[in-house]
Amino acid sequence: MKVPMVDMLAGYAPIKDEIETAVKNVFNKANFILGEEVTKFEKEFAAHNGAKYAVGVANGTDALRMAFIASGIKKGDEVITSPFTFIATSETISQVGAIPVFADIDPVTFNLDPKSIEKKITPRTRAIVPVHLYGMPCDMDAIMAIAAKHNLIVVEDTAQAFTAKYKMGGKDWKYCGAMGHCGTFSFFPAKNLGAFGDGGAITTNDDKIYETLKQLRNHGSKVRYHHEMEGFNSRLDTVQAAILSIRLKHVEGWTEMRNKVAEKYAAALKGLCVTPVVPANARHSFNYYTLRFDTKAKRDNAQKHLTEVGIANQIYYPIALHLQEAYAHLGGKRGDLPACDAVMDTVFSLPMYPELSDEQIKTVTDAVKASLSVGAAK
Ligand SMILES: *Cc1c(COP(=O)(O)O)cnc(C)c1O
Repeated sequence: MKVPMVDMLAGYAPIKDEIETAVKNVFNKANFILGEEVTKFEKEFAAHNGAKYAVGVANGTDALRMAFIASGIKKGDEVITSPFTFIATSETISQVGAIPVFADIDPVTFNLDPKSIEKKITPRTRAIVPVHLYGMPCDMDAIMAIAAKHNLIVVEDTAQAFTAKYKMGGKDWKYCGAMGHCGTFSFFPAKNLGAFGDGGAITTNDDKIYETLKQLRNHGSKVRYHHEMEGFNSRLDTVQAAILSIRLKHVEGWTEMRNKVAEKYAAALKGLCVTPVVPANARHSFNYYTLRFDTKAKRDNAQKHLTEVGIANQIYYPIALHLQEAYAHLGGKRGDLPACDAVMDTVFSLPMYPELSDEQIKTVTDAVKASLSVGAAK
């Protein structure tokens, strides 16, 4: 049995009529650019995440870039982030003229290690960008405490963690993206809340950041042809906003389903490899389901075997950012961030989407087991 990484059509079938009606409605109104569906979705999205404001933008990468500019991150500032993330997190830091500084990760959660963040702070440090990787919330109590102590801005890269939650101070459940000064989101189809194309959003409680973001996404303009600043063409498409409003109503249920799939994976693979460890103060959104093996050979063998039998899989991410050619000028090398180096060599991700059936789950876990017993890996 072939098992895909994600199955967009499985999530589409039950809500097809509702989505097609909403799309036709936009077509008939032809309000394609910043139509009322965008404002409606922004209100719903902000309310869902417990934020005062949300600004819809073209994609999650632009969301990061504009969040950095609106928060006042400038040329020469140092911004501490994770080396174990998609390059969008760091390329946008560079694109606003700042310098990405990679801190090490925690080998269990795969997220930024607060102790390593503290070691990277210099007088030029301006911000921290925690990435809730795969949908696992970062240690936000520690990160916000460091930020408060050093007067730093926190922009949460929540591209993989919409609907993930963290219990701040051990008592207040907060959504990821709602704890820092801004949260950035991606509606790339494969994310927890996927559009039928590209999309993104930024949430904030700050009135000034909100006003700046609305200008930035629309060429620095509030009133047409009056430009208080330079900006971008980065608006959330009205058709996508209409689709996202419908999908938003289902996303919590999908996250529950993803968590059930995760439980079944973990039960079947217990003792064979390391399955995600979700702390009691966190709810994982399981955008990805990632295993860790004790050796690279076992990981490589599992990956090879799954691919051979038609089970999709992926290494997120095979080369950490500090080792990428794009960052050669920063002088990073193996050994600088030892936890990250070890993790990138030993993880890989299994198919993960809400509708995965028990039969598919068994096919996948049987294949992982077979790779461990049949394989020559030591
Ligand atoms: C997907 C992703 C982004 C970028 O989002 P796009 O909508 O694809 O531009 C940024 N950061 C992380 C961690 C991501 O996974």
